Amino acid sequence: MSFDSLGLRPEILKAIKETGYTEPTPIQSSSIPQVLEGRDLIGIAQTGTGKTAAFTLPMLEKLIHHDGQRKGRGTRALVLSPTRELVVQIEENVKTYAKHIPVKVATVYGGVGENPQKKALRSGVELIIATPGRLMDLMGQGCTNFSECEFFVLDEADRMLDMGFLPNVRKIVSSLPKKRQTLLFSATLSKEIEKLTREFQHSPKFVEIGKRSNPADTVEQFLYEVTKSQKIGLLKHLLGNNDLYSVLVFTRTKYGADRVAKQLGKSGIQTGAIHSNRTQNQRTRALNDFKDGKIRVLVATDIAARGIDVEGITHVVNLDFPPTPEDYIHRIGRTGRAKSEGVAISFVTEEDRNPLRTLERFMKKSIIRRRAKGFVFDQQAFAATDRKHKTPRGIKPKDGSGFKRQKKRFSSPSKRRNFRRN
Ligand code: AMP
Repeated sequence: MSFDSLGLRPEILKAIKETGYTEPTPIQSSSIPQVLEGRDLIGIAQTGTGKTAAFTLPMLEKLIHHDGQRKGRGTRALVLSPTRELVVQIEENVKTYAKHIPVKVATVYGGVGENPQKKALRSGVELIIATPGRLMDLMGQGCTNFSECEFFVLDEADRMLDMGFLPNVRKIVSSLPKKRQTLLFSATLSKEIEKLTREFQHSPKFVEIGKRSNPADTVEQFLYEVTKSQKIGLLKHLLGNNDLYSVLVFTRTKYGADRVAKQLGKSGIQTGAIHSNRTQNQRTRALNDFKDGKIRVLVATDIAARGIDVEGITHVVNLDFPPTPEDYIHRIGRTGRAKSEGVAISFVTEEDRNPLRTLERFMKKSIIRRRAKGFVFDQQAFAATDRKHKTPRGIKPKDGSGFKRQKKRFSSPSKRRNFRRN
């Protein structure tokens, strides 16, 4: 299938050609015609599938009149996304594809001053791309008017739920006209997501993208067994290989991200870090330096990394193993974007055995184990943590500490995830 047969106007097709895309990705060819027909849509799409263009292209088509003129000064479309980076990335997509049509867009997200955003909203924009929290603030100050909004996109709906944004999303949706077109994208389809679609959508069309774009199938993946104390040493060792040219490293916590960035920096490896404790300016600078190749390694936490779409990331390193298979898929999807190749390396400690098993079952394949050449693997230390971990159930440590207390604190996987989440 070619872009020409999707029903998009010549000005948009011209912009697509200029980006160098030759054919639509599966989610684009299956969803664009449906959206142009006016249908609501649920897109179950993982990262790296081209889903941003899948909703941006038909949305732009609908934002202007048949004769190519602006429809008026009111806001006609709203895109909600969970992170600031993702908002910026969607805006970049919009600007690329809207190069030859007159569409005004405003972005709204926290961590930066409100005034420029307020000014942009007041100037009359057709499209608002926003994170829910800041949008609620600005709506409360009367900066928006959604009475003419006819198109609503909820992007990364599963993340929105995870991050506790649902109450804000509900309030925002309740201020939109009932008669509108709603698209909902999510990496996974859960009961909660189904409930949301019933709440927000009207007989939606269901589009699930095929395996081809699943990074779990296309990215080369392997793992190293390590102890916690060996992780940074192994990372430095691997970075001795220049094939690791543009590397995204994931840590579980923001403190961990800072620590790793500092340690790599001390070894002369240009490194940046992004996480939610950094100001928006720091995050933007680190991301731009990474995109421009000024820094070789970017260390990130899951939430901060949601919107990262950097071409040419050669390697993703899970310094800390991801808590859920979905997180793993999102992380490794940062490399091997579109049609390029990528490598995902995971460090696995004894404590990660269960999440690893869950992941391998989820992907229906096992990840190749490797030993790093020239790196002295501390088998004894690994075995020691192994033994410690295998303390027989029912034996209570004398001081009342240890696994019993740990078990109580994380009585469910979601509590454990929330505890670790930043
Ligand atoms: P997304 O899933 O929207 O984050 O997109 C993943 C990557 O694929 C981005 O870098 C896009 O620029 C790229 N992309 C989107 N559509 C196409 C296409 N039809 N052909 C090639 N690359 C694409």
